[in-house]
Amino acid sequence: MLKLYNTLTRKIEEFKPLNPPVVTMYTCGPTVYRHIHIGNFRTYLMADFLRRTLEYNAYKVTHIKNVTDVGHMRTSELHQGKNIDPVLEEALKEGKTPKEITSYYTKLFLEDEEKLNIKKANKYPKATEHIKEMIEIIKILLDKGLAYRTGGTVYFDVSKFKDYGQLSGNTLDKMDMLLKAVRISVETDKKDSPDFALWKEAEEDRMMKWESPWGEGFPGWHIECSAMSIKYLGDTFDIHTGGEDLIFPHHEDEIAQSEGASGKKFVNYWLHGGYLLIDGKKMSRSKGNVYTISDLQKKGFDPLAFRYLTMLTHYKQEMNFTWDALEAAQIAYKRLVEEVAEFKNPKIGCAEYEEKFLEAVNDNLNMPKALAVMWDLVKSDYPDSAKAESIFKMDQVLGLDLEKAREKKKNIKVVVSDAIKKLIGERERLRKMGSFTKADHLRNKIKKLGYRLKDTKEGVEIEKI
Ligand code: AMP
Ligand code: ZN
Repeated sequence: MLKLYNTLTRKIEEFKPLNPPVVTMYTCGPTVYRHIHIGNFRTYLMADFLRRTLEYNAYKVTHIKNVTDVGHMRTSELHQGKNIDPVLEEALKEGKTPKEITSYYTKLFLEDEEKLNIKKANKYPKATEHIKEMIEIIKILLDKGLAYRTGGTVYFDVSKFKDYGQLSGNTLDKMDMLLKAVRISVETDKKDSPDFALWKEAEEDRMMKWESPWGEGFPGWHIECSAMSIKYLGDTFDIHTGGEDLIFPHHEDEIAQSEGASGKKFVNYWLHGGYLLIDGKKMSRSKGNVYTISDLQKKGFDPLAFRYLTMLTHYKQEMNFTWDALEAAQIAYKRLVEEVAEFKNPKIGCAEYEEKFLEAVNDNLNMPKALAVMWDLVKSDYPDSAKAESIFKMDQVLGLDLEKAREKKKNIKVVVSDAIKKLIGERERLRKMGSFTKADHLRNKIKKLGYRLKDTKEGVEIEKI
């Protein structure tokens, strides 16, 4: 039985989907005007562990992850007091169109997801392609008297939605203070300060703007997720995920708009991941303390070592990132691959360990425990073939690509001849002596013979070209 912590009820609950075996799931995706950092990826990895666990339990998951390609200001991104759209700012800086910028970063994001072995969402809808759907919801909210217009801007009237605050537990009197912390400015034309913008009037020089019944403007950030999740998953769906910073106001506002418009419950289970910290502070673009997957790779780390690292902390807890911890995770991951490479072909697995593993992942995604169970099995007395069977099965959730890694290792072992081994050994010797030019010469010679060498912290890796 799968149990999940639901932010909405503040309890661990048994997971019961609306229409089993189908599970509908929405993940707030990235804002694509800069590199997506490893803090963001910690949250997407959490969603991936959840999705894989659901599939492990034989559910059929429809997963939607949006791409925010309309810039949305945050206080932290306030540019010298001026309300400049970050997508535009980046475009101007790089001499590109906003579309070129967002396409570029979307492509990098998808490549990084692949490197981390994050399963592809069924769809990655873009905000800019769903303006019509957002306008439709805003029209309904205006018709129902849940929103009001001030010039070309439309606000949601929080006082008309009695359940406002249900997700974050914020009462209206607490709200004002919280909002001041997350907004660019406290808009002065609103009736009541917790009200939030559904549609904003475009400033004169704004490039990213659209026609609407209220004049030229652009959507608020929250409305995009309501529009895209409802379009692809229906008025009510099973699971919504994001980092804990999205609980308020983003998800609170998504609930108000969506339930206000449809009159139905929006989402049954809300899951929020803890922050990735660096030196005790949240990793964030505005603080400039971010690392990307490419940064990790440039330092010789395998992106899957980062995946492994995130499994060592429960997803709801904060996780402090250090290079030493990543190094330790990489060593453990490589050791695991070494172990697995020795396995014989899979045969009847070990039910005892498989049960413990399932129990761990089904206990609100206890990945640290799941990983420990897997290592216990590796070290156990079961025959290799049984270990292989069970571990490859567990890897459907872990996503460490162990079968592929095993094949790769096996290929290396089979293919490299003694002559090549000798050349590699000679090159290593030259490198240790500091004769890098000679070593490079040998590397080229080996390359011509069909093998690419990669120097890693654990030694040289050989790849067949
Ligand atoms: P953004 O592009 O800022 O909207 O963030 C995309 C996702 O990453 C959201 O679910 C955020 O909650 C999450 N996120 C942002 N920073 C961090 C962090 N330091 N640790 C974990 N998740 C984060
Ligand atoms: Zn969202």
